[in-house]
Amino acid sequence: MDRRTFLGIGAAGALAAAGTTLEGKIPSAIKDFAKDKSLKIKFMGTGAASGIGKKGLGRRHSSILVNDDFIIDFTDDSLDMIPEGLHPDTIFYTHSHKDHFQPSAALKIGVKKVYLSNTWYDVAVKAYRQAAEEAGAEMPEIIPTYFGMEIKVGEVTVTPMLANHPTENLMEQAQIYLLEKDGVRLLYATDTSGIPGKSARRIGIDKHREGYGINALIMEATSSDPDDFRLYCHSSTDIVAKTVRVLLKTGRLHMPEGQKVYITHMAKSLHPKNINETLPDPIRAAEDGLEVVFRAP
Ligand SMILES: [Zn+2]
Ligand SMILES: [Zn+2]
Repeated sequence: MDRRTFLGIGAAGALAAAGTTLEGKIPSAIKDFAKDKSLKIKFMGTGAASGIGKKGLGRRHSSILVNDDFIIDFTDDSLDMIPEGLHPDTIFYTHSHKDHFQPSAALKIGVKKVYLSNTWYDVAVKAYRQAAEEAGAEMPEIIPTYFGMEIKVGEVTVTPMLANHPTENLMEQAQIYLLEKDGVRLLYATDTSGIPGKSARRIGIDKHREGYGINALIMEATSSDPDDFRLYCHSSTDIVAKTVRVLLKTGRLHMPEGQKVYITHMAKSLHPKNINETLPDPIRAAEDGLEVVFRAP
C-alpha cells in the first residue's frame, strides 16, 4: 500500500495507525503502513542482572526486538518473547555481561549474524564457538563494529555509540545504539551511567548541534535511589529524569505529541512497586512484552 492509498482510509484509520496498543485490532493494510513509517520496538525483557529469577517474579533480562527484524541482547529469559512465526537471525550486543550476552540462547533461535564492539571480538568468537560446538549448531558470522559506524539491517540504520559501563574485560567498550528509520531517531541506552559526551556529540544532542538530535528515547534506570553505588556504571531514575529534562528544555529531544520516554533494565528489588507513579511525565516504565511504535514528529 502506498501513502496515497493510506490517506484514503481517512481520519479513523490514521488514528488507529498512530496508536501503540491497537496492534491486534487494526486492519492489516494499516499495519503495513505502520511498519513503513515508524519504528516498532518490542521489549522482550526490561530487567537487570537478576532477571526473571527461579520463581519467575522478576523482569526478564533486558532485550529488544527492533522492527521485527533484529534483536539487541538476548538470553534464555526471553525465549518465550519471540513472536510466533518470526525468525530474527541478526543480533547486536551492548556488552558481554551475562544478562545480555548468552550465545547458547541466540543459537537456539537460529541467529546467523552477530554484531558487537571490536573491543571484545575475540572473547565473543571464543564463547560462540564453544556454544556452537556444545549445541551442534552452525557458527554464526561475527562482525566487529566501531563507534559511529552505520550498519543497515533491513530498513533500520544502526549506529553503535559508547556507553559508560565497565566490564571485567578492561579492553571492552560497552555500546548503546542509535536506531534510525524514516525520520525516527531512537536512542537505546542500556547499560550506561548517563550518556557519555562523545556519544552525545555524535548523536547530536549536545551543544554543538542546533535543533533536535533524537525524537525517541529508551534509557536504563537500574535503580530508583539517586545515591546508589552503581552510579559509575548504571543510571537511576533521577539520572534519566535529568537527561530528559535537559534534552526537552533545549529541544534536543523532540517527540511527537503523546510519545513517551521508556526506562528499562530495572532491578526489581531497587524500584518501588508503583514505579510509574514516581516517574515524571513523559517517562514511563517499560514492561516485558510491551510493543511501542515510535514515530517522528
Ligand atoms: Zn545489564
Ligand atoms: Zn552490564
